Amino acid sequence: MRTTHWIGGKPWTGVAERAGDIYDPATGQVAGHVDFASAAVVDQAVAAAGEAFTRWRTASLAQRSNVMFAFRELLNAHRRELAEIITAEHGKVLSDAAGEIQRGLENVEFACGIPPMLKGGFSENASTGVDVYSIRQPLGVVGVITPFNFPAMVPLWFAPNAIACGNSVVLKPSEKDPSAANFLAELFAEAGLPDGVFNVVHGDKEAVDRILEHPAVKAISFVGSTPIARYVYETGTRNGKRVQALGGAKNHMVVLPDADLDLAADAAVSAGFGSAGERCMAISVVVAVDPVGDALVGKISERIAALRVGDGRRPGCEMGPLVTGAHRDRVVSYLDAGRAAGAELVIDGRSHRIDGERAGFWLGPTLFDRVDTGMSIYTDEIFGPVLSVLRVPSYDDAVEVVNTNRYGNGTAIFTNDGGAARRYQNEIEIGMVGVNVPIPVPVSYYSFGGWKDSLFGDAHAYGPEGVNFFVRSKVVTSRWLDPSHGGVNLGFPQNS
Ligand code: NAD
Repeated sequence: MRTTHWIGGKPWTGVAERAGDIYDPATGQVAGHVDFASAAVVDQAVAAAGEAFTRWRTASLAQRSNVMFAFRELLNAHRRELAEIITAEHGKVLSDAAGEIQRGLENVEFACGIPPMLKGGFSENASTGVDVYSIRQPLGVVGVITPFNFPAMVPLWFAPNAIACGNSVVLKPSEKDPSAANFLAELFAEAGLPDGVFNVVHGDKEAVDRILEHPAVKAISFVGSTPIARYVYETGTRNGKRVQALGGAKNHMVVLPDADLDLAADAAVSAGFGSAGERCMAISVVVAVDPVGDALVGKISERIAALRVGDGRRPGCEMGPLVTGAHRDRVVSYLDAGRAAGAELVIDGRSHRIDGERAGFWLGPTLFDRVDTGMSIYTDEIFGPVLSVLRVPSYDDAVEVVNTNRYGNGTAIFTNDGGAARRYQNEIEIGMVGVNVPIPVPVSYYSFGGWKDSLFGDAHAYGPEGVNFFVRSKVVTSRWLDPSHGGVNLGFPQNS
C-alpha cells in the first residue's frame, strides 16, 4: 500500500524522490510506504490552496456550514473504517481509536456552528453620520503540522475551524501514521468541499521547512514535541507568520490523603497506560502526598497486573504496542536509567504477558516508585507506558513539584476536599486542570492548550481561541454622503 499526497482535490500522481516505511506496530512488519514531499511538491499544494482560497473566502457562511454538516455526517458514518486505519498504523486499540474520532467529531460539530462567532461589532453614529464596524476575515492558506499520536483528532482540532472561517489548509501529518489524513481528505471531498481547500502533503523536515518559509502560508498550527514546537514557532514567526505550536508534556496527578484511593488508582492506571502512554495528556507522574504512598502503589500495581496488552484488533485488549521499534527501544532505555538512578522498579513492563505477534513493538505497563525530580525518568517526556510515583510530605510540596516542572500541559488533583481543589486550580501553573478527572481535555467549545514549554504562541487550539487564530479583524469607518460634512479639514479626525 502506498500513501501519497492529496492536492487540489485528488491524489498526487507524481513520482516521489523519497518515501518512508509505514509499520503495523502490532506485527512489527512494514505495511506500506508513504511518499515524502519535496519543497516543489509543497509548493504545488500551497498553490492549489491559494487558488482555492480566492473563491472559498467569499463562499457564504451558509455554504461553509452546509459542507461542515455533510462532513460531520460522513465522518460519523465512517468512524469504524477510520478507527481501523488508525489502529493498523498507530497501534492503539480500536476502542481508543474510536474515542479519538469521537473527540474530533465534536470539533467538527463546533465548526458547523462557527458563523455566529464570525460576527463583528457595529456602532451607529460613532461620529455624527459616521458608522464604525468590524469584520472578521480569513487569513489565507494555513499550514497544519501534526504528531503521530492522534492521527485523526489533532488534524480535526484545526482543519474544520480553519475551513469554516474561510481559509484553505495544507496539512502535513506524521509520517508514521499518515493514512488517516487521506481518509479525512476523501470525506471532505465527498462532503462537497471545493477542490484545493483541504490538501495533504506527507513527509518530514523538508516538507515542514518549506511550509515554514513559503510566503503564501499565513499561519501555522503545530502539535508535536517541545524541541520541534519551539523550532516551528521561532522559524514561522521569523518568517512573519502567525504560529501556535503545542509541545510536549509531563502531567502530574496529585493524590491528597483524603482522596478515594480506589478512584485515584483507577484514574492513574487509565490515564497512565491508555494508548500506551502515547498521549500528551497522559498522566506520567503520580504525586502521592503522605501517607498515601504505600496504599496507592499497592492498588495501582494490582490494576496493572490485570491489564490486557496486545494487538488492538483483538477483542479484550486494552493497551496496544508502541508506534515504532525505535520508540519502544527508547522507552525501554528509561527502565534501566530509572533503576540505575535509584528509583524502585515496582513493575517491569518487559515481563508483561502480550496477546500479539512476537515481533510487534511491545512494552507492558511499567511502574516506578520513590522517583525524585532529578532523575531522567522524571525530567524527560518518555511518551510510553511508564508511570512514576513521587512521594511528598505535604500539599505545598506537591504544588512546588508541579510548578517547578518545565512543562505545563495538564494536571489532576484527587481529593474530597473542595477547598484544597479550589486552591490547587488557582495556584497551579498548568493550562488544563482536572479535579478528580485524570485527563481534563477541554470540550470543543473551550480551548485546548498548555503553559510553559507545552505551548509556544498566544492562542490555544480549537474552541474560541481556535477561531480567533484563524481570522483577522478589520474595522470600517463609513459615512454616506451628507452635505453637512463637506469641506476640507487637515486636522486629525475627531469624533463629534
Ligand atoms: P514530533 O515533534 O516528532 O513530530 C511532530 C511533527 O513534526 C510531525 O509531523 C513530524 O513529521 C514533524 N517533525 C519531526 N521532526 C521535525 C524536524 N526536525 N523539523 C521539522 N518538523 C519535524 O512529535 P511526535 O513524536 O509525532 O508526537 C509526539 C509528541 O507530540 C509528544 O511530545 C507529545 O507530547 C506531543 N503532543 C502534544 C500535544 C499537545 O496538545 N500539547 C498533543 C499531541 C502530541
